[in-house]
Amino acid sequence: MSPRYKVTMPRMGTASLALKTFLTELGFDVVLPPPITRETLALGGRYTPEFACLPLKVNLGNYLQTLPQAPDAIFMAGGIGPCRFGLYGEVQREILKSLGYDIPLIVFEPPKKHAFELIDCFTRFLGHRFWLNLPGAARITWEKFTAIDRVDKAVLARSALLDQENRKTLWKQRKAFLQRLDGLMDLGGIRRLVKETEEGILMLSPEAERPSLRVMLVGEIYVVLEPGINFDLEKNLAMLGVEVHRTIYFSEWIWQQLFLNFLRIDWQRQLRQEARPYLRRFVGGHGLETVAHTVQAAREGYDGVVQLAPLGCMPEVVAMSIIQRVSREQKIPVLSILLDEHSAGTGVQTRLEAFVDLLQNKRIKAAI
Ligand code: SF4
Repeated sequence: MSPRYKVTMPRMGTASLALKTFLTELGFDVVLPPPITRETLALGGRYTPEFACLPLKVNLGNYLQTLPQAPDAIFMAGGIGPCRFGLYGEVQREILKSLGYDIPLIVFEPPKKHAFELIDCFTRFLGHRFWLNLPGAARITWEKFTAIDRVDKAVLARSALLDQENRKTLWKQRKAFLQRLDGLMDLGGIRRLVKETEEGILMLSPEAERPSLRVMLVGEIYVVLEPGINFDLEKNLAMLGVEVHRTIYFSEWIWQQLFLNFLRIDWQRQLRQEARPYLRRFVGGHGLETVAHTVQAAREGYDGVVQLAPLGCMPEVVAMSIIQRVSREQKIPVLSILLDEHSAGTGVQTRLEAFVDLLQNKRIKAAI
């Protein structure tokens, strides 16, 4: 029997839960890094250049916290395009080498360009088991991704309608859902859990028919999805009674990147049209989406937009200056929060509360 290799990967919000399932079902033993804390950031920041992107620093911190468990390889995501994401793999490999870790770092590149290299990596480790296990691994992973996003959408929609006590119960239900989902490895069990969770959410009786405030959450994918970096911003905003419309869900991102791009379907067309009066070029990362969704938020009557960006992230810095213009011209308040390893949770929370006050005052004035 061929050996089971031990592998690790960086954390990225709830996506780590489904990705862990994928690698486990393929035939690896997965060691997840501990949840991201200030220590992770300090560790990553110590060995990366000051100007490196925040996600790179966090990823490195994740590896350094996991390497004492001697994994055989590291999996990470890679990209192409004008931003620095495409260089991540190489930079991380070099930093780890300089620290004395000569460990294979396998980069998940977009399949449109690098499908064969990735398959080659998997078969080197798993042999024929890769092809045998792939369909089942893909099926259950997809089920987990969609289950997480479905429950998250339901939680975000319901939270703003509840009183404070029920809101707390709701977020506890979400936590319990994720804990149970982590241990499930069959499609039927996952579907039953989603149904049960959705029923539990609906049992919490609303105190209002409509949310008092609606905010669109935009920005760079990593800082939007990782609560350890954004100080649980989505939950904190929801606890302030705001309906949060997150614009990035991992299952949708996978669908776009793996399937639509592979089939060369232009899924960004509508986004380009929406952003066109303000942005006409691809700027990398989620810059186009940030601009397009801000315009959409103004058109659809949202009360405000919150943009999350790592400090120095080129696509989001470009988008930030553009959405300030959208904000002025379309009269929609925008709060841009730049995050780095020195950011503090209290500072972010204070800014969020001030922003929500501003939106409430604007509503009141409009009603007079
Ligand atoms: S999107 Fe921003 S943070 Fe992410 S790699 Fe590109 S420049 Fe860095």
